[in-house]
Amino acid sequence: MSGLGKLRVAVIGAGAAGLCAARHLLSRRDTFATPVVYELSKNIGGTWVYEERVGCYDNGLPIHSSMYRDLRTNIPKEVMSFPDFTFAKHLPSFVHHTEVRKYLEQYCDHFRLWDHIQFGTSVASVTPVDVKGGWNGLAWDVTSNDGEDHSKSTTERFDAVMVCNGHFYDPYIPAIPGLEKFKGRLMHSHDYRSAEPLAGKSVVLLGAGLSGLDIAMELSNVDAQVILSHGQRPLTCPLPPGVQQAPPVTSVLDDGTLEFKNGERAKPEVFLFCTGYNFTFPFLDKKVGVKVQEHLVWPLYKFIIPPAYPSLFIVGICRAICPFPHFHIQSQFVLSVLDGSFRLPSREEMEKDIELDIAARCGRGIATRHILKLDSEQWAYNDELAHLGGFKPLPRYWSNLYESNKVFRARDMLNYKTYNYTVLENMEWKVHDLHGLQLQKPLAVKKQM
Ligand code: FAD
Repeated sequence: MSGLGKLRVAVIGAGAAGLCAARHLLSRRDTFATPVVYELSKNIGGTWVYEERVGCYDNGLPIHSSMYRDLRTNIPKEVMSFPDFTFAKHLPSFVHHTEVRKYLEQYCDHFRLWDHIQFGTSVASVTPVDVKGGWNGLAWDVTSNDGEDHSKSTTERFDAVMVCNGHFYDPYIPAIPGLEKFKGRLMHSHDYRSAEPLAGKSVVLLGAGLSGLDIAMELSNVDAQVILSHGQRPLTCPLPPGVQQAPPVTSVLDDGTLEFKNGERAKPEVFLFCTGYNFTFPFLDKKVGVKVQEHLVWPLYKFIIPPAYPSLFIVGICRAICPFPHFHIQSQFVLSVLDGSFRLPSREEMEKDIELDIAARCGRGIATRHILKLDSEQWAYNDELAHLGGFKPLPRYWSNLYESNKVFRARDMLNYKTYNYTVLENMEWKVHDLHGLQLQKPLAVKKQM
């Protein structure tokens, strides 16, 4: 501790990451003052707050959630949950999004978070100020606007800020030559709510990530003819009826026809981008120096801390991860930095660490835009943070169950959400299919973990 008295921490966003940050801050009242959680909407849950409208809310702010009506989770609840708070027992492993929202509300009840959230308050700026005797000589001025009356703004000073604003709301649309010539309906998955409006239509769906595959399945159910265009290796699992694969779209011709990388062409009624999202931190003072470049947010030590301003923490930017447990680990790591149980290296050492880490990833052939995708490396990352911060790592079965689900998903995208997992008392787990038949654990994962 710095001898400052209790540290005041601001949390930006009351999605899963912000709630998790608040939960941990509140559990350490010896060291931390009660946090202030700023939330621009009137609800907790962020992504998990389904909003039928697209575009903007009544107050003119853009709709945050990219949730669609029939979404069920792609991670079983047994490992999707925060490790210290399970989903209700009666639920199946893959739950409807409304259950996740309920779960997050129950998390708020259980850890008594509600009173610390300022709803309808949008953070407009986060500015570092030099403060003698402050944590690392720093403090932060957080200016927020009233969601209804934008002219009302308030500034409060904090010792540290945890940025938990999410990164699935600002649609990324790749630059495709001639795109403006497309004559059909152009849309992004951010504005996709349900399949019915696209029933029977011809659709080119760009991107075979989790949302792309899921939406392709929904469209198949309403007899849309879908060309799933993507740059990955061709999928080998059975595809839904009416869905075929194609390489990426490379250009749009003068008459609005889409041309694929292999020279084939299509003129669909709908061109649907499932191409992901941009990171944005519009409130962050430029002098903090956090940059977004080709989907990489940097420089951030351990993907969280800008070395020059080590009392700012950006939580939850890693991709291809198991989000809630990841937030749980990152939040505790942040607390360990602030309470001094983990002593940060010097600014220069952190900068060097980032440089070497990025160089090592590039050396393994990872493109800049994929550096934040931790994928199976997330488990070593989580363990490292737990080790550095001196807190409990995730239970051992977590990685194995999660990775096995990935294998099942790759083998059988049509059915993997009908499986049900059980975690046994000895921390082993088993999985059954829809008919109650116990499935073999994937061998590759058994060996790897
Ligand atoms: P968000 O949930 O986006 O929350 C951010 C919050 O910050 C929002 O409430 C927003 O209003 C607030 N905010 C933003 N800017 C400001 C500001 N300036 N001032 C004040 N408040 C602000 N994860 C899973 O684990 N399982 C799944 O099955 C799964 N499926 C998904 C499906 C879709 C379609 C999408 C888009 C994501 C899915 N995810 C899934 C990932 C999901 O986003 C994470 O689980 C998690 O909800 C992210 O939480 P977050 O707190 O980082 O961000």
